[in-house]
Amino acid sequence: MSDPQFERTVIEVTCNYCGARLRLLMSRLRHGNERMLYACPECGKQYEAKAALEPEVLLLHPRSDGKQDRYQESMF
Ligand SMILES: [Zn+2]
Repeated sequence: MSDPQFERTVIEVTCNYCGARLRLLMSRLRHGNERMLYACPECGKQYEAKAALEPEVLLLHPRSDGKQDRYQESMF
């Protein structure tokens, strides 16, 4: 099997719960992307991204809401 050709994409997002600034390294394929989860390293809130591999998350700027709490996942 040959290595899939990943398309590396870097995007920057802001966590809408705590305001932390994150940089995501996404590995995408032309076909075969799936819904991947990544978590904000500051509050733990989970987000979805379409990619072939789990995104690598880098914290660019700490949370800006001045709190210490963790995001509470709602049960569903
Ligand atoms: Zn957060």
